[in-house]
Amino acid sequence: MNNDVAGLRVVITAGASGIGLATAEEFLAGGAQVQICDVDNDALERFRAEHGNAGAWHADVSDEVAVDVFVSRAVDAMGGVDVLVNNAGIAGPGGRTDTLELDAWNRTLDVNVTGTFLMSRKVIPHLVAQRSGSIVNMSSTAGLMGFPNRAPYAAAKWAIIGLTKTMAMELGEFGVRVNAVCPGSVDNERMDRVVELEADASGRSAAEIRRGFTNAVSLQTFVDPADIAAMIRFVCSPAGAKISGQALTVDGHTESARS
Ligand code: NAD
Repeated sequence: MNNDVAGLRVVITAGASGIGLATAEEFLAGGAQVQICDVDNDALERFRAEHGNAGAWHADVSDEVAVDVFVSRAVDAMGGVDVLVNNAGIAGPGGRTDTLELDAWNRTLDVNVTGTFLMSRKVIPHLVAQRSGSIVNMSSTAGLMGFPNRAPYAAAKWAIIGLTKTMAMELGEFGVRVNAVCPGSVDNERMDRVVELEADASGRSAAEIRRGFTNAVSLQTFVDPADIAAMIRFVCSPAGAKISGQALTVDGHTESARS
C-alpha cells in the first residue's frame, strides 16, 4: 500500500487559498494533475503565477451554470477526472439561532451543501463511466457535534456527512469511493475570523475564545492545512482503496465544540 497519487486527475474547489491550496500543492507535489476553482480573483492570480502546470478557474460552487462550465473545462484540460475534492465552504454568521438572518443562513447552506451537491452531480457520471474514482467532501468537527452560535455552519457540515454516506452507498458498486474529512480548528486567517465571530457573539475576548478552542482538544493544538491535505491525499491514494463512507477526523481529538 502506498499514497502514490502520480497521474491522478484532481479537481479541487476553493483551491486558491487555505486548505484547498494546501491540498492542490500536496497533489501537485505527488505528480497529479490539478484543476481548481475559486471566487477570489487575486488568489487565483497568485495560484496561476506559482502553479503554471495547474488550471485555475473562477467559479462560485453555489452557481449551477458556473459549476457546469468549470467541470467541463477541468475535465477537458485533464482528459478526465479521478478525484473531486469538495473543499469550498464558508463559516456563515455567528450568533444564537433566533438572532440569525435568513439570507445568511441560506448562503451558508448554498456554498457548503448545495455547492457540494452541484459539483458532485457534474463529476459523478465521469467516475461511474470509468468505474473508479474518489470524492472527498469537506465537513468539520462542527459536523460531528453541536456548535453553539454557529447553527447554519453546524447544520451544513452535518448535512455534508449525510450526503457523503448516501453517495458512498450509491456509488460503491461502481468502484467509486466517497468520504468526508473533518478538520478541527485550522490555524489560519479563516480561524482568526471565526474567533472574532465567536468573540462578538459571546461578548468574550478573542484570546479567551482561542484558549477555549485549544483547551477542548486532547492534543491541545490547532491543526495545519498540510495535515488536512495529507489525509485527503491518503484517502484518494491506493492506501485508501477500501475506505468509503467515512467521516475522517483530523483534529487532535476535539472533546467539545463549546469554546
Ligand atoms: P478559507 O476561508 O481560507 O477559504 C478558502 C477559499 O474558499 C478562499 O480562497 C475563498 O475565496 C474560497 N471560496 C469561498 N467561497 C467560495 C465559493 N462560493 N466558491 C468557490 N470558492 C469559494 O477556508 P479554509 O479554512 O481553507 O476552509 C476550507 C474548507 O475547510 C471549508 O469547507 C471549511 O468549512 C472547512 N473547514 C475549515 C476549518 C478551519 O478551521 N479553517 C475547520 C474545519 C473545516
